[in-house]
Amino acid sequence: MAGPALRAWRRKSAPAPAPKKVLCLTYFHDFKLNDAITRSLTEEKYLTPTPIQAQTIPIVMSGRDVIGIAQTGTGKTAAFALPILHHLAANPRPPERKSCRVLVLSPTRELSGQILDSFRTYGRHLHIRATLTIGGVSMGAQVRALLNGVDVLVATPGRLLDLVQSNALRLGDVECLVLDEADRMLDMGFINDIRKIVAKLPAKRQTLMFSATMPRAIAELAAHMLHDPVKVAVTPEAATADRVEQRMIRVDRGAKPSVLIDVLKSETVDRALIFTRTKHGADKVARNLARAGIAAEAIHGNKSQNQRERVLAAFRKGEVRTLVATDIAARGIDVDGISHVVNFDVPNVPETYVHRIGRTARAGAEGVAISLCDGEEMAFVRDIEKLIRMSIPVSDRRTHPSRAEQPAANGADARSAKPNPHKRGKRRRGGEQPRRDRHRDQAARHHEPATRHHEQPARQQEQAAESGGAIASVAFLQRSSQSRPKTDRGPRWTSHSKGS
Ligand code: AMP
Repeated sequence: MAGPALRAWRRKSAPAPAPKKVLCLTYFHDFKLNDAITRSLTEEKYLTPTPIQAQTIPIVMSGRDVIGIAQTGTGKTAAFALPILHHLAANPRPPERKSCRVLVLSPTRELSGQILDSFRTYGRHLHIRATLTIGGVSMGAQVRALLNGVDVLVATPGRLLDLVQSNALRLGDVECLVLDEADRMLDMGFINDIRKIVAKLPAKRQTLMFSATMPRAIAELAAHMLHDPVKVAVTPEAATADRVEQRMIRVDRGAKPSVLIDVLKSETVDRALIFTRTKHGADKVARNLARAGIAAEAIHGNKSQNQRERVLAAFRKGEVRTLVATDIAARGIDVDGISHVVNFDVPNVPETYVHRIGRTARAGAEGVAISLCDGEEMAFVRDIEKLIRMSIPVSDRRTHPSRAEQPAANGADARSAKPNPHKRGKRRRGGEQPRRDRHRDQAARHHEPATRHHEQPARQQEQAAESGGAIASVAFLQRSSQSRPKTDRGPRWTSHSKGS
C-alpha cells in the first residue's frame, strides 16, 4: 500500500473522543463525512447517529483501531462503513489486481450480504468497487470479481481462505480490516481461519473489531490483532423494550400447532416471524400452517442458499407474510415491518428471546411477541423474565391447568421438578439430563442454535449453509419517515466508551 495513503489512514493526530456518556446529540454533518455519503444518509432518512455511530465514527476517522461491543441492530454496520467509505473517498486510488483495500469478515452469508448492501447504499454516490465472497455458491464469479481488485471485500472466513489459497486473492494490500460479530465467529469455529487470515495481512493497517460479547478468546484475539484500540460499547437498555407487546400463552404441548393457527387468524398480522427450535420443527410448522390455509415458508440451514434468498426476498416484499425460522437462519433477517414474532418454542437461552422479539419493532415501529409455552418450558420463561426484569403477561389455554405443574412465578422450575412418570415418561427415563442441556445438545447436533462454542470446523460450518449473521436487533432506531415510539421517550440507549 502506498505510504501517503497509509499515513492518511493511520493518522492519529486527532485525539480519540471518548465520552463517558453519549446521547444522540450529534448530527451526521458534525462528522464532516464526504458530501456524497451525507447525501446517501439523507436519502436513507437517517436523522441522528446512534450511540455506537456517534462514538465510533470520529475514532475510525482519526485512524485508531476500535473494539466495539455492540449487537446488530445498534447501527454498528454504518459505524464502520461510513468512516471507511469516507477514507476511500478521501484517498482514491485504483485497487491492485486480485486485492482489496478494505476487508470485512463476517461469520455468515446473510450478514455478509447485508454488510455489502450497506456499503453500497451509503456509498451509492461514490465510485466504490465492492464485492462479496461467501461459501455455498460457485467460486468462479467471485474469482472474476476480484481480478481487477476491489475497494471493499466482504467475506466469510472459509471462502476467503479458499480464494487466497487458490491465488485468486492477495491480502497484502489491505488497509483496513473489520471483524464483525467476532463472538459469533468463535461460536462457529472460525477463530483459526481468522488467525490465518490476519497472518497474511500487512502489520500496518487499521483494525476494527465488533462483538456483542467479549468472551476470553475474543479478548485474546483482540489483544493480538488490534493496536492500542479504543474501546466503545453500547448496551441496548432494558433489552426487550416496551415497544414490543409481549404475551405468553400457556398451552399443552400437543396443542401448540392449533393455538398457533388461532393466534395467526385472530391477530392483525402484517408479517409474522415464527421461531422453532429445530429445522425439522420449522418445516412441520410451515406445513401445518399451509394445511390451515395460512401460506408460510420455512427458512433454516437445510435449505440451499438460493432457496433462503428467494424466501427472504418474498418475505421482504410481503409476498410471503408468514415465515418460520430457526434462530440461526433468522439471524440474518433484517426486515422492517414484522408485526408479530411468535415463539413456537420458548428459547432455552434467555438472550435468544430478546434477540428474537427484537425482530419486530424495528426502526421505530411497534410489534407483538407471543410465546407458546408448555409446562416444561416454564423454566426457560423464568430465566427470560429474570433477564428482562419484568414478567410477561400470561393467558392460559391448557385443557387442565390445575393438573399441570406450578406456574413459574411460584418458583416452580421444570428443571428441578420431579419427573412425572405419567407425563413424557419415556423421555425422562434413565436419569436423563435436564431439558435445557438436552436441547443444547440436540441443537448442537442439528447445528442450531449454535449458542455455545462447539468445535465445528469452520469450513464445514460455512458449507452447512446454516448461517444467519446478525442477531436480532433490540435497538430501536428512528427514521424521519417512521412514527415516533409509543412512549416517546427519545433514544433508549446507555452507552459508554473507554480509551485504552
Ligand atoms: P445494524 O446494527 O447495522 O444492523 O443496523 C440496524 C438497522 O438500523 C439497519 O436497518 C440500518 O439501516 C438502520 N440504521 C443504522 N443507523 C441508523 C441511523 N442512524 N438512523 C436510522 N436507522 C439506522
